[in-house]
Amino acid sequence: VEYYLDNIQRKSHLNAFLEVFADEARAQAEAVDAKLAAGTAGKLAGMVIGLKDVLAYKDHALQSSSHILDGFRSLYTGSAVQRLLDEDVIIIGRQNCDEFAMGASNETSYFGPVRNEIDPERVSGGSSGGSAVAVQADLCLASIGSDTGGSVRQPAAFCGIVGFKPTYSRISRYGLIAYASSFDQIGTLTRSVEDAALLLEVMAGADDFDSTASQQPVPAYSNLLTPAPHYRIGYIRDTMERPGLNPEIKSAVEGMLDSLRDQGHVVDAVDFPYLDFMVPTYYILTTAEASSNLSRFDGVKYGYRAPDATDLESLYKKTRAQGFGPEVQRRILLGTFVLSANYYDAYYTKAQRVRRLIKEKTDELLRQYDFLVLPTTPTTAFRIGENEKDTLAMYLADIFTVQASLAGVPAISVPAGTDAAGLPIGVQMLSGAFREEHLLAFAKSVT
Ligand code: GLN
Repeated sequence: VEYYLDNIQRKSHLNAFLEVFADEARAQAEAVDAKLAAGTAGKLAGMVIGLKDVLAYKDHALQSSSHILDGFRSLYTGSAVQRLLDEDVIIIGRQNCDEFAMGASNETSYFGPVRNEIDPERVSGGSSGGSAVAVQADLCLASIGSDTGGSVRQPAAFCGIVGFKPTYSRISRYGLIAYASSFDQIGTLTRSVEDAALLLEVMAGADDFDSTASQQPVPAYSNLLTPAPHYRIGYIRDTMERPGLNPEIKSAVEGMLDSLRDQGHVVDAVDFPYLDFMVPTYYILTTAEASSNLSRFDGVKYGYRAPDATDLESLYKKTRAQGFGPEVQRRILLGTFVLSANYYDAYYTKAQRVRRLIKEKTDELLRQYDFLVLPTTPTTAFRIGENEKDTLAMYLADIFTVQASLAGVPAISVPAGTDAAGLPIGVQMLSGAFREEHLLAFAKSVT
């Protein structure tokens, strides 16, 4: 704990933590020491972690890196975090992220961007940017983030670490601030696949507080990391031919596929006809869900309240206009539009149908093949400010991560070297739903 506290202080310019729980972490460490001496310690004893600022932790501030939740403190601890605490994890602090997890660069945070340790003029990725840099820069051993359309995998790729999103519903969302509820999933940012497996094993499973959490039994993932000798692996032809895919990322993926082939695995190019529809479908559905989820922040129930309101209507309007940043407002407007009476069928209903097609085709490929391998991102970490003005370019950069989110299947990004400038490259792997033990064993074998 002292080691990490010292690092956090020395590297505070990275802006990864919004708050550090120094004294509490020290007290937790002492309690764990006593349990270790007594032989009663849990399986995460001594693991020092950070929490993305979207996870409820009783009596601690929680604000999704948004002005609108200023002063809000959580009244309870979410299920995943509680399960980690029950296994004696040590929580060192609360981590910066994009506002309401909307973004891919951590630049939408009310608290400013997180800096990539490799080049502090470059972004961390997002939305779990603080969580990724905290692991990259050795400010904690592991971070718990959330992934709606790539938010643990993309920053992990930009920071050279492992980012893992389990199957939708594998981990309870109770205590996770909602962005788009049919996509949101808690995920992990770690240095190793082993740590991802261990954290999943503790957090996953049925939960009385989230009726959508899966009832499926939870395998002992951390004991199941031995890969099979032969896998069938597919890669989507079009992803590799995508204009805008950085050639160094392309060759990193090709290099991995070649070595898998050399090891005797079957590696095939496959067709997936919906690549161009992925990002539009994702943004129509997630903004629709977000516009509904975020209606609860109205100045009455939580956090910030506009001081100059004159009546209830103006209280809502002023609080939301002052409290939400521009990206969140843009998405609420877009989501409200696609749900409006005149446009609902043209956009929302159609996007639901396209999502179904994407899911069915993805599931079919993942029955034919054990895994799909693809780049995590089209580029390496870009400069802070570079894409900020071009919203569409920023959205299009999610092209490779949203497939797993639309289909609800698990996906992991593992480090695969760097480009010529030394910036990390991530390669992503998808498996069928609830096949995490196979996905993790495979991911471990290629790292
Ligand atoms: N970049 C995507 C978005 O802005 C993903 C964010 C996320 O997974 N929370 O929606």
